[in-house]
Amino acid sequence: MKDPANGDLSTVLVVDDDPGAQLLAQSALELAGFRVCCAADGSAGLAAFKAHAPDCIVLDVIMPGMNGFQLCERVRALPHGQHVPILMMTSLDDMESVTRAYTAGATDFASKGVNPMLLAQRVKFLVRTKLTQDQLRASEAHVRYLAYYDPMTRLPNRQRLVDIITQLGQWASPRGRRIAVMSIDIDNFSGINDTLGQVNGDALIADVAARLRHCLRDPDRALDQSDAQIDLSEPADWLARTGGNEFALAMPGLPDSDAATLVARRIQATLARPFMVAQTELPVSASIGISFFPDDGTDAQLLLKNAHAAMHHAKKSGRGACQLFMESISTRAAQHLSLEADLRKALDRNEFTLHYQPRLMTQDLRVDTVEALLRWRHPQRGMVAPDEFIPLAEQSGLIVEIGDWVLQEACAQARRWRERSGPDWNIAVNVSGVQFRDGTLAARVARAIGAAGIDPHAIELEFTEGALIENSGSVKHAVTRLKELGVSIALDDFGTGYSSLSYLRHFPIDTLKIDRMFVRDITAQNGSQAPLVDAIMAMAKSLGLATVAEGVETDLQWQFLRSRGATQVQGFLFCRPLPVQELLEWNENWMHGGPQRLIGAA
Ligand code: C2E
Ligand code: MG
Ligand code: MG
Repeated sequence: MKDPANGDLSTVLVVDDDPGAQLLAQSALELAGFRVCCAADGSAGLAAFKAHAPDCIVLDVIMPGMNGFQLCERVRALPHGQHVPILMMTSLDDMESVTRAYTAGATDFASKGVNPMLLAQRVKFLVRTKLTQDQLRASEAHVRYLAYYDPMTRLPNRQRLVDIITQLGQWASPRGRRIAVMSIDIDNFSGINDTLGQVNGDALIADVAARLRHCLRDPDRALDQSDAQIDLSEPADWLARTGGNEFALAMPGLPDSDAATLVARRIQATLARPFMVAQTELPVSASIGISFFPDDGTDAQLLLKNAHAAMHHAKKSGRGACQLFMESISTRAAQHLSLEADLRKALDRNEFTLHYQPRLMTQDLRVDTVEALLRWRHPQRGMVAPDEFIPLAEQSGLIVEIGDWVLQEACAQARRWRERSGPDWNIAVNVSGVQFRDGTLAARVARAIGAAGIDPHAIELEFTEGALIENSGSVKHAVTRLKELGVSIALDDFGTGYSSLSYLRHFPIDTLKIDRMFVRDITAQNGSQAPLVDAIMAMAKSLGLATVAEGVETDLQWQFLRSRGATQVQGFLFCRPLPVQELLEWNENWMHGGPQRLIGAA
């Protein structure tokens, strides 16, 4: 945009075959501060317009060759000629030529005898109006761009993809063709962001976008932002960025689910080749969900929603999976939504409660620690198990608030026991990986302990391997801080993740909890052979860690674990998770003969 205050001059093109009139106009315009170029006939005028891109044209009507009306029409037909103001100078002030001037596209007209100084003022007004309109058009275009495109990848956003799919539907419907819609989500992206930082996370997204684009039949068309109306003569594949780490594809004409699955596999293979991020090679896996027009919906929003629900379903079966949409998935997604809404209210309505399950010392089968296990008393559904709502609370971020409540309640319970000469059991609290993300976990734990006024050694936190790996940077810092506070750390569900011995050394952990999947393997059929349990116990010993065996259900399992020197045992054989009062009653009973019965049987 030109700014006279910056010394930028606006240019005016004067086209007139009369040298005297031309000179008068030129001098007046230059006096008024314009740069002026002149042409003596229509075709020279057209050439000058192309060469100088003037901000206004002053145009004589009657000229030899191409006349003013014709030149006006030619300029208007040029891509940059649509918005330039054109002032027609006519000696014929009859109505007919005025009408003709406007029909040809003139902005304004003046009669030829006009005082040149007045003419210059008129031009000034037209140019100023044009500059304002240019500014308006530019900001309109920018707003449109932001509304429909993702500035980082330059790909269409979700809104634009909805437009595109709607248009593709108009192509597919009468031809009886299908459109595959895919939702593609980078697995564990928040973990990557946490570890490598957001700048690198953004760079990775841009690289992923570029690779995805090259999976399309015509990669260049994916960046075409020229027209709201897409070319339907030969519809292309479209790629959009629909969320932070989420992309979506629309592929018109894919015949069936086999073809779509094949494309999905190709996309996953493409992403599996390592990316270079922050000088590190990083393979990326993506979960993909697929829906079809018209089979799974004819409405673009619904197709995207169904593909998204299928993607979520795929994610649950592990990384890098692919899932076709089915009706049952959307039913489940709807249930999830209503459950999520209820979950938001649950804290306010005081619907959470803690049950406690004892961890007993192997040596004498006395309770050492109780694990706090969250329960949700849903007003309609009754008791909802944590496996059903914790993942949901993690996805929505609600787990941070809920986790705070669990910490506060567990600390308060420890306090109540100690105040009323109750048991001096330690309390173990489960912590989700999401609670690490914002780096405030240690402070939150310290606050809960401080508010209850208890000894920090009474609290143990249980993290899963997954939580450690996905957030390794922030976790290490938090775990160190927690240890300094005096809180103990246990690694929950050990053996179900991917951590290696050398990796675990990096974290100051006190205890390994052997997942119940391994304990389940100890059966009479295999002659009580459990090589994995043996291996984990040996490893824990070499690292100087205590062990807790989870899910002990049979006498055989108990005897085996005892013989292998597990530090603590936990499971239904001894006690299920119970509300506080029942737990105390159980303990009364238990201490009358429970340990003797099981240890005596050895
Ligand atoms: P977890 O921390 O591994 O807890 C042990 C789970 O195993 C509990 O399930 C418990 O009831 C069950 N269990 C205990 N002994 C036995 C047994 O002998 N046999 C069998 N089959 N199961 C046994 P629950 O209470 O349903 O909790 C499931 C998971 O939910 C927990 O696994 C934990 O990961 C999560 N969770 C529970 N409370 C919280 C919480 O307050 N915060 C977070 N972030 N996660 C929680
Ligand atoms: Mg646990
Ligand atoms: Mg566990």
